[in-house]
Amino acid sequence: KGERLRLPPWLKTEIPIGKNYNKLKNTLRDLNLHTVCEEARCPNIGECWGGGEFATATATIMLMGDTCTRGCRFCSVKTARKPPPLDPDEPYNTAKAIAQWGLDYVVLTSVDRDDLADGGAEHFAKTVSYLKERNPKILVECLTPDFRGDLDAVEKLALSGLDVYAHNVETVRELQRHVRDPRANFDQSLRVLRHAKVAKPSVLTKTSIMLGLGETDAQIYTAMTELRESGVDCLTLGQYMQPTKRHLKVEEYVTPEKFAHWEKVGTEMGFVYTASGPLVRSSYKAGEFFLKNLIR
Ligand code: SF4
Ligand code: SF4
Repeated sequence: KGERLRLPPWLKTEIPIGKNYNKLKNTLRDLNLHTVCEEARCPNIGECWGGGEFATATATIMLMGDTCTRGCRFCSVKTARKPPPLDPDEPYNTAKAIAQWGLDYVVLTSVDRDDLADGGAEHFAKTVSYLKERNPKILVECLTPDFRGDLDAVEKLALSGLDVYAHNVETVRELQRHVRDPRANFDQSLRVLRHAKVAKPSVLTKTSIMLGLGETDAQIYTAMTELRESGVDCLTLGQYMQPTKRHLKVEEYVTPEKFAHWEKVGTEMGFVYTASGPLVRSSYKAGEFFLKNLIR
């Protein structure tokens, strides 16, 4: 205790770069899009942008600014009680830029905006519908805040035309207070996911859990069971990485074998897909997974 754990070898490996990567990289410049992939220096960028077997390029775009009204202890996004107002032209301009960019699958995400009446649900929904108007073939995932449990906001977004409704529970039930902002909790997140599915049953729901924060196997198993019982379709599990010294420490580097075990458990529980591995992030190769599991 007290000392930082050393990085295990499986987190130091070279990651392959797929064939679309350079094309996307070169065409991004003039579009004024803020990708989480680049800004967070995500190690998966070569794979996500490059596309794999299905040549499905995935990228994650940030909406509603870079300042969050919450402060989770694992997250390095900056915080303010009253971030700058929304740009009313963002839905249209972002949709236009994404449609031009040549992605197959896009993840739209945002900070939490507890300062806005609907948490930004309308802003998200408009972006999705503009985007689908311009490019009906693009698959759209929204990785959303919990909207403070406002189910009307959830419903608005679920009916916007998106394909995947994602909201992360982040960690097991027992560690919620330790890891997430106190305004978030496991039951509220479950309600959001359940309601998205009820509002539009054809939409896939998806969530993500970080491992290595001190959770036990029994707690992981119970969290997965509860998620499945709430109708969640897709699950990702990845290693928590400490973004700066001020953030929560990594308690454990979970082995690739253990991640593979959870993937098997997820499949047995009946998730449409479970993506589980040390470098898996909520949006990791989301397009590949979607096609592989739903088109076949
Ligand atoms: Fe971008 Fe997410 Fe893939 Fe990282 S995992 S490169 S943030 S789409
Ligand atoms: Fe980060 Fe999301 Fe928590 Fe805001 S709500 S601090 S963006 S994890």
